[in-house]
Amino acid sequence: MPHHKPLLQFTPQGIYCAQADVHLDPWKPVKRALITHGHSDHARWGHEHYLTHHRNAPIIRHRLGDIQVQEVAWGDPILINGVKFSFHPAGHIIGSSQIRVEYRGEIWVFTGDYKREDDGLATPYEPIRCHTLITECTFGLPAFKWIPQREVFEEIHQWWRENKDSGKTSVLFGYTLGKTQRLLKHLDQSIGKIYTHGAVENMNEVLRHYVDLPETTRITKDTLKSELIGSLVLAPPSTHGSAWIRKMVPFVTASASGWMAFRGARRRRAIDRGFVMSDHCDWPSLLDCIRETGATKVICTHGYTDIFSRYLRELGYDARTESTQYEGEQGELDPKIASESDVNDDTEFPQTA
Ligand SMILES: [Zn+2]
Ligand SMILES: [Zn+2]
Repeated sequence: MPHHKPLLQFTPQGIYCAQADVHLDPWKPVKRALITHGHSDHARWGHEHYLTHHRNAPIIRHRLGDIQVQEVAWGDPILINGVKFSFHPAGHIIGSSQIRVEYRGEIWVFTGDYKREDDGLATPYEPIRCHTLITECTFGLPAFKWIPQREVFEEIHQWWRENKDSGKTSVLFGYTLGKTQRLLKHLDQSIGKIYTHGAVENMNEVLRHYVDLPETTRITKDTLKSELIGSLVLAPPSTHGSAWIRKMVPFVTASASGWMAFRGARRRRAIDRGFVMSDHCDWPSLLDCIRETGATKVICTHGYTDIFSRYLRELGYDARTESTQYEGEQGELDPKIASESDVNDDTEFPQTA
């Protein structure tokens, strides 16, 4: 049953299903948008109608204001002009989905952003069988191999204790949606009190309606400098170097991000400590996830697309890159951070037989 056009196409507006006349995570305003998750490069303002998982709906309402949202549950089939769409857990952040698209026996899956490790907040990733997989590859370089979350938290807790013992405030940077809640969920509150920047706490308030998060204290103009000593502050990366952060003096900074795998990234941003923790797949899990879908055709959307799709072709996949406007998490994926020199420093490309 050959189609004249592929089931999903890459257009100037975004990923488009012509048969159903809908877009997936479009970057230009469209009539009907299916949204994988709440990060700003995937859930953009200006669409007439949004369709997303019910856990993502409050997030995008919070970020985008008065929008028209239809909510779906995992696996619920949505039939649009003969095309069957369904949302499946992506494990990236709370409410993040992959979108499965089926038409006349042909199945495509768009991963959005995804990771394999269960972070205790996002519904864990499930591989979905398909013929064609559209995948992100934000960390699609062999240099990226994550250590288990449990070990990262041991490092973070030790860092916090040491700072506390030396009378300093620990400022930990993480993206407002996803990363900070993941940090919060697993931080050991027996060490000290956890404070939050207003932007982080506003997002926490939205999420507390349906996820269990430890207690935090919002930093306001009335917060005393003395009470912050020895505490841990969760703040967006954009506050680094700002006037806001001077209230924490004496303080030390750390960032929790996949980019911290690049030593140069931490140095260049003048962050005292880097913890390697990502909400995206590392190199081995990208390869495992793709294999488990059974897909023979793979389209890479964002990240190290050229290197990654070339490697997939060496493995025998029909793989290619399409350019999109997905950017990765703002403030985490800083083009200055992942420079060519970093890549050359740390990358050993594996040999294929
Ligand atoms: Zn994302
Ligand atoms: Zn993304």
